[in-house]
Amino acid sequence: MAAAYDSNNIFAKILRGEIPSKKVHESAHSLAFLDINPLAPVHVLVIPKGAYVDFDDFSARAPDAEIADYVKAIGDTARKVGVDADGYRLLSNCGANANQEVPHLHVHIFGGRMLGRMLKRDGE
Ligand code: 5GP
Repeated sequence: MAAAYDSNNIFAKILRGEIPSKKVHESAHSLAFLDINPLAPVHVLVIPKGAYVDFDDFSARAPDAEIADYVKAIGDTARKVGVDADGYRLLSNCGANANQEVPHLHVHIFGGRMLGRMLKRDGE
């Protein structure tokens, strides 16, 4: 189960307009913006506008309309930044084992180059 939502996290501040971000896409319940420290030529973050800690929290509590909007926003964003033709990776870190840094649900969209393996194997 996810921890309680911290309304002072960085993405909550971006949603409130308290800190700037480079917006890529916006819908009724979702926002997409460039990652500040990109790990690929295309690195975009897509977040729900609602206060959800991670995927576990979102899938348990969000109304269907917000879930549908979020899934569509992820696909729309990928097409908008042009990674649909060559392929891309979606990744969402959820909790401690995934090293989630910002406690507001976000899906990373990576693209623009060959991305390699999904995870390192032990010993690599
Ligand atoms: P996580 O490890 O939680 O999945 O990833 C958090 C991501 O948020 C990182 O890729 C990091 O670069 C990004 N990030 C952290 N602070 C900011 C910020 O203030 N603005 C933006 N645009 N991205 C941020």
